[in-house]
Amino acid sequence: MAREKRILVVNDDGLHGEGLAPLREALAPLGKVTAIVPERERSAASHCLTLHKPLRLKPHGPGLYAINGTPADCARIGVLHLMRSGVDLVVSGINRGHNMGSDVIYSGTVAAASEAAMLGVPAVAVSQGLKGGKGDYRAAAAFAVRVAQRLLKGPKRPVLLNVNVPALPPESVKGWKTVRLGERLYDQNVAVRRDPRGDHYFWMAGRWVRGRDLPGTDISAVRAGYISVTPLALDPTDVAALPKVAAWRF
Ligand SMILES: [Mg+2]
Repeated sequence: MAREKRILVVNDDGLHGEGLAPLREALAPLGKVTAIVPERERSAASHCLTLHKPLRLKPHGPGLYAINGTPADCARIGVLHLMRSGVDLVVSGINRGHNMGSDVIYSGTVAAASEAAMLGVPAVAVSQGLKGGKGDYRAAAAFAVRVAQRLLKGPKRPVLLNVNVPALPPESVKGWKTVRLGERLYDQNVAVRRDPRGDHYFWMAGRWVRGRDLPGTDISAVRAGYISVTPLALDPTDVAALPKVAAWRF
């Protein structure tokens, strides 16, 4: 008989992230699901690793643990310690809000999945769009199951997928498209204020302004009502620029 599949769930929205429970419940029929998440929200933590303080792993009920660390820490502790006897798949999310285009550079959700892929485990990051600040996680949870079922069949080599689900009820989602990353544009304002002692402080709002609607990208697919699926590479080398830079005289 085939061994039960072992799935690690991580996120960056933390223990109280609203996409965590729908994801755990949806994946449960596929195998043994273990979740390790940050004890508090660490959105936009990117690929930060905790190297200079001890990490504590605390149980919060069956199959659920929190650590005082980052999303990438969760993936490492999960793969290298808690589930060291074997992990078949890592699912990161469901994030509250999209991670499209250049968001993937900042995203803790994507970083946790990419850390898993770097450790040799197939991984997918799943993010849900919000409408009026609210998320409907049903379509994302159902699609996460479909992706998980596919990834559990192989390939054996590491694979990293980034999935974004439009802010729509499941019946209104048109389907899915495999697309490249788009371009998301943020306002570039840094708010400068004064604290009660008269000293300046800064607040980086990073408010999303718009995405360029380029065809074949995650932004245009999601805008048209499709779930976007983007395979991500772990090697950011600009291969096209290599010969050009090699010809420069430094
Ligand atoms: Mg988040």
